[in-house]
Amino acid sequence: MPQTYHHLTPRPTPSLLSIVIPAYNEQEVIPHLRPRLEAFLQTLPCSVEVLFVNDGSADRTLELLMDWAGADPRIKVAALARNFGHQAAVTAGLDMAIGDAVVVMDADLQDPPEVVLEMIREYCRGFDVVYGQRASRQNESAFKRLTAWGFYRFMRRFIHPDLPADTGDFRLVSRECLDALKAMRETHRFLRGMVAWVGFPQTAVRFDRPARAAGSTKYPLRKMIHFAWTAAVSFSPLPLRLSLGLGIITAMLGIIVSIIAVVSKLTGHTTAGWTSQVILVCMVGGAILVSNGILGEYIGRIFEQSKGRPLYIVSRTMNLPKPPLPHPPSTTQTTSCPQESGISTR
Ligand code: UDP
Ligand code: MG
Repeated sequence: MPQTYHHLTPRPTPSLLSIVIPAYNEQEVIPHLRPRLEAFLQTLPCSVEVLFVNDGSADRTLELLMDWAGADPRIKVAALARNFGHQAAVTAGLDMAIGDAVVVMDADLQDPPEVVLEMIREYCRGFDVVYGQRASRQNESAFKRLTAWGFYRFMRRFIHPDLPADTGDFRLVSRECLDALKAMRETHRFLRGMVAWVGFPQTAVRFDRPARAAGSTKYPLRKMIHFAWTAAVSFSPLPLRLSLGLGIITAMLGIIVSIIAVVSKLTGHTTAGWTSQVILVCMVGGAILVSNGILGEYIGRIFEQSKGRPLYIVSRTMNLPKPPLPHPPSTTQTTSCPQESGISTR
């Protein structure tokens, strides 16, 4: 795809910077994060709000965050009603942020806050998206490094040609770009792909990704595979095409086996028909099941999306107004009489 030409218009430092941090079971990390972030906030050339989204943690994360927010009005906390997952938690933070520019970063200090200063410099040069690109990854297992390397290359080759390699969700986004992003309400979210999709001038700042400050990853292999699958099927019909390709290959093999069967019949060697029949039945059955399964994945996602449920539910906030529950899309709304909208007593 040819690169879009963007004219960069320099802009002043944001008058308010929002930093969105999702946190899920991070009680070990908060005591490390608090002094580091507070020291960093002193160095910022602009006002700041730090928006923590507690993603239904089961430990003391929310308590520690509320404590922090009680002592510092720049710290804002939104608690989700349960664990909605990292992408939904980041979405909640982005929806509530009011800054001219918004930075998303992890709670575990793997996204060093100091890199944000470089991101602001690029923002002032006129870029709308400045993503952190991992130059190196410390203390990550060879397996995690290899799977991440493979994931980004596969995605760029087949699904998202615009997806920058070796980037997570650590990035700065301008208000203009954020408003475009907020208009995309898909249920199955792959935010970094969505940011690439909206376009706008984008650039990278490279950084060395340190190890987690404390605690353990909240993205075990099971969640990573699920995330990669969402990234693939929510953005591309490629798996559907692959299942079509598989079907075509199986059908062609079927034709070859049929020709062999007919030739055997004509030449009188018809006794060994059982093996080829079993192979054929298994192959065709397998191909149909695989195709059905992939179709099912898409239909399941259409079903989820058609329910029009909110992407997350906020149960409590601190230093923040509680956001209203979004209404489902108007096509699924029914008009109700005013007297019917109260709570039923039956
Ligand atoms: N996280 C979240 N909800 C989840 C899983 C993770 O909000 O269901 C947060 C987590 O607290 C952290 C960030 O997402 O701030 C990234 O998670 P983690 O560091 O465990 O991922 P990794 O860096 O190992 O890929
Ligand atoms: Mg991490």
